[in-house]
Amino acid sequence: MKLYRYLHDGRVLESSEVPAGAKLVAPVTPTKIVCVGRNYAEHAKELGNEAPSEPLLFLKPPSAILDPDGTIVRPPVSQSVQHEGELAIVVGKEAKNVKADNWRNYVLGFACANDVTARDLQKKDVQFTRGKGFDTFCPIGPCIETELDVSSLRVQVRVNGETRQNGSTSQMIFSCAFLVEYISAIMTLMPGDVILTGTPSGVGPLNAGDTVEVEVEGIGVLRNVVA
Ligand code: ZN
Repeated sequence: MKLYRYLHDGRVLESSEVPAGAKLVAPVTPTKIVCVGRNYAEHAKELGNEAPSEPLLFLKPPSAILDPDGTIVRPPVSQSVQHEGELAIVVGKEAKNVKADNWRNYVLGFACANDVTARDLQKKDVQFTRGKGFDTFCPIGPCIETELDVSSLRVQVRVNGETRQNGSTSQMIFSCAFLVEYISAIMTLMPGDVILTGTPSGVGPLNAGDTVEVEVEGIGVLRNVVA
């Protein structure tokens, strides 16, 4: 089932169907966004990095969340804002020390996300907080799909209709099951928390006026414009 959130007469409603003309909003309100870096070997390579032997984790602030169709704002301090299309896991139940074979019981469903990154600042700072943390740097949506086998799904990014990233979740170094066990052994995951599972190769620039689309097979298309 697909769960949407939308605005109707100034109120936020949730439903599996959206009335015509309603404005979609981000389908989650996380307490934290846990991200996995370099989870696709080809992407690690394109940025000159080794594939990691353990998941490389970082956080994005909840204030970075952006609605479907919302505008990604490039901060003046960066010369290199890039897209990273990713499968997002949405936590459904408080989760601590979850075992991998039980991971699905703690997950509400899955969404498309864009781990927007100021690549120059990420490299300059070493820590990822600034480069990944600007407002509007976490578009997510268009819905949460609650029934999906995520072991082999196409993950694509298009910019102005041109395909930039085209991978499969089957290429992930660490599976969703592994990640839920690994992360929940570190921090308690709360309902609505989001895990971004890493991006396939093909990351590239976002410029003013671009339209960027992240499509994950079985979920839908997350579309945003860039300013
Ligand atoms: Zn990423």
